[in-house]
Amino acid sequence: MVLRRSQNTSCNIISHTPSVIALLERIQQSHVLCEQKEKLYHLKYKCIFLLLLIPILCFLKCHTRIYNAWVGPFHLNLDSFIEHWKIYSGDLEIERSFLVGLFSFDKEYLQIELGENQIDNDTYNMYFVYFRHPMYNQLLYTFNPIKESSITNLSKKLFVKLPTYLTSHFHKRLPYRFEQFNSNTLKCIIRQLDISSEVDNIKLMKSMHIKIIEEIYDQNATEFNMKVINQCGILLGYLYDCQNEIVFSPSSNQRYKFSDFVAAFDASSSYSPYMSYLFGGLFYELEQLRQRQEAIRTREEQRRYRLALFIEEEERIQRLNQEVDFEQIWNRVPSASPRFIANFRLEDPKIVNSQLCETNCSICLETLQPDEHYSQWPCPAQHVFHYNCMLNVLRRQNSCPLCRHLVEAAPLPSLDVVWRNFLFRVASRVAN
Ligand SMILES: [Zn+2]
Ligand SMILES: [Zn+2]
Repeated sequence: MVLRRSQNTSCNIISHTPSVIALLERIQQSHVLCEQKEKLYHLKYKCIFLLLLIPILCFLKCHTRIYNAWVGPFHLNLDSFIEHWKIYSGDLEIERSFLVGLFSFDKEYLQIELGENQIDNDTYNMYFVYFRHPMYNQLLYTFNPIKESSITNLSKKLFVKLPTYLTSHFHKRLPYRFEQFNSNTLKCIIRQLDISSEVDNIKLMKSMHIKIIEEIYDQNATEFNMKVINQCGILLGYLYDCQNEIVFSPSSNQRYKFSDFVAAFDASSSYSPYMSYLFGGLFYELEQLRQRQEAIRTREEQRRYRLALFIEEEERIQRLNQEVDFEQIWNRVPSASPRFIANFRLEDPKIVNSQLCETNCSICLETLQPDEHYSQWPCPAQHVFHYNCMLNVLRRQNSCPLCRHLVEAAPLPSLDVVWRNFLFRVASRVAN
């Protein structure tokens, strides 16, 4: 401001000599340069902050949590799960540089596809978790071994912890990513759900298989979990060391403690690390907000588009009316403005309810019937008319038929213009 004021004053005093103008331009340029430098300085610190933040977020494995919360569990088929299990059990060492380890996904929450009949359901090989004690006879979880030899032959033994009917997890609709399963697993699921004949006949595509499976799963999650999970070997969960579990062996009702050479895949509870909630929730909320704003914007655009269409239509109707209805112009009775009528048409008409059934529409003099459309004049008394009756009145006059309350008027053409147009039309008809 000071600079500009000084420029103005100097310009007034010195009558625009070229050297003064050049000097002022140089001052102006240096001022702009200073501003740019300041902006760059701030931008540099923002970039440094971001660069520091990304490794911290990666160190906290936020990207893995976001993936789990957003996409779901990491899918592993039998082969890739065997590799994963080898690494977990220590039979396979993988050398990863610090940077690769920092940015790669930490596959904890898994969807594993063991295949049909891979889970051992022989009670003599299983371990049990009871509510309090076996004497209450309330079995909560079972630890089942896996039959696949390439899993059992490793240095650690793997069990699958499965929920029973008494746990809430057994009845949950789990977030399976069915599109990741191979055709054998999908066929197994279809067989277990007893929809095989229908599907074989129609020879549906994989996507259709999945659609049917998901529909059935949505309808009855308990039945699906009971029939499919164990039989087809599809598990959702995570690997953990299960030495702290209080289990009972099948042969006796004695407590049993797993050795250090045992681990389990917990398919009996939801995997929900706090980070998933934090970041997944945050991203979910942001996405919801974005979608809501998008929907509002689309609605606004549609409304604007329809409003413009209605205004155009009403202007056309008014032009046609003015050509034939001389009485209205002669009496200087303006109709409601095209914009007002367009806005009126944009609002959804109200439906007559039982309270309004006895009301008379003073335009057509008929009683309002249930389920008919009605509207109210924006007058203090809010007089009620049929929707179509009110629309017709608005196209002829801008005052309430009952209380003369005025709404925005359309401009009336002058009588001169109307006469000139009328005479021109008559003359052209005579000429034809
Ligand atoms: Zn009416
Ligand atoms: Zn009124």
